[in-house]
Amino acid sequence: MVQIHQLDSILADQISAGEVVERPASVVKELVENSIDAGSSQVDIAVEDAGLKSIQVIDNGQGIPVDEIEMAFRRHATSKISDRQDLFQIVTLGFRGEALPSIVSVSDVTMETAIEGKAGTKIHLKGGKILEKQVSESRRGTNIIVNDLFFNTPARLKYLSSVQTELSAITDIVNRLALSHTDIAFSLLSNGRELLHTPGNGNLKQVISAIYGINVAKQMIHFEKQNNDFKVSGYISLPKLTRASRNYVSFLLNGRYVRNNQLSKALVQGYGSKLMVGRYPLAVVSIESDPILVDVNVHPTKQEVKISKEQELCELLSKSVYARISQENLIPDALKNM
Ligand code: ADP
Ligand code: MG
Repeated sequence: MVQIHQLDSILADQISAGEVVERPASVVKELVENSIDAGSSQVDIAVEDAGLKSIQVIDNGQGIPVDEIEMAFRRHATSKISDRQDLFQIVTLGFRGEALPSIVSVSDVTMETAIEGKAGTKIHLKGGKILEKQVSESRRGTNIIVNDLFFNTPARLKYLSSVQTELSAITDIVNRLALSHTDIAFSLLSNGRELLHTPGNGNLKQVISAIYGINVAKQMIHFEKQNNDFKVSGYISLPKLTRASRNYVSFLLNGRYVRNNQLSKALVQGYGSKLMVGRYPLAVVSIESDPILVDVNVHPTKQEVKISKEQELCELLSKSVYARISQENLIPDALKNM
């Protein structure tokens, strides 16, 4: 045993990378969330070999100022929160300042970024170290390329699933991000093939159509209800359109895709006896609340959150789904889709 000592920052980043960057899809998630937080209206994602060879994200957001670029890659460095008060009022997707340092500790990263009307920066890092930094002629926004993910963590590389599974995890997360940000135009390319393209015009039904197809979109109905604490709205499938898994349900809490079993149950309850056992609806449910009611600081990936008044929210959801589905049944088939 050696004396207790502080680990050097690169090693510390590599350790925490294990929590944030589990697989290529986690890198895609973190990078796209940064693009969303930067106020982008367009985000273009391209992966090669399910992200193992490369992951590129190009946005037209606010960019990183020249004198802050190195800071962006340090641990717990963020522009999104400053004090304890902010921690209870999170309005951005990121705030922990962990993604970039974690990603660069296990890959080879080149980033070009510029703020409006100023010269930009191009920076190249590998395994947590800066290899090169120069002034660049970039347009507003950020272009980041992550190559050779997990090149220095062979165990992690070895335990990844097949390329197909990793790619579907990427598609899944991009789909959810696109559903939660309908005002952003997203595109996703995999080895040059387009897997998703959304218009970015704020129309949720069009995003549903881009992801699940027009036939599904046609059988999804709008619902909306609110009380003093929450507003729930979105699209739910007619009871005749179901799937064998819960994967086609997205809960978007203040713009963040979250997983929550209680909400899933409440949604299914809203269908009453109309769903067959083992079948699930398709749904995109947006939930808006005061951020104070949501604790997102539960897990590094922030997909699990704690919701105060969760029971009340679940009741609001089942009631509104129930009301909407019952109402649909009263409309004669001949008048539907008119
Ligand atoms: P967090 O998102 O939790 O703040 P990150 O490590 O993901 O931490 O990013 C660190 C900082 O780098 C962010 O707070 C932000 O200021 C800046 N940044 C990262 N990506 C972008 C981007 N695409 N556009 C603008 N700024 C970015
Ligand atoms: Mg981030």
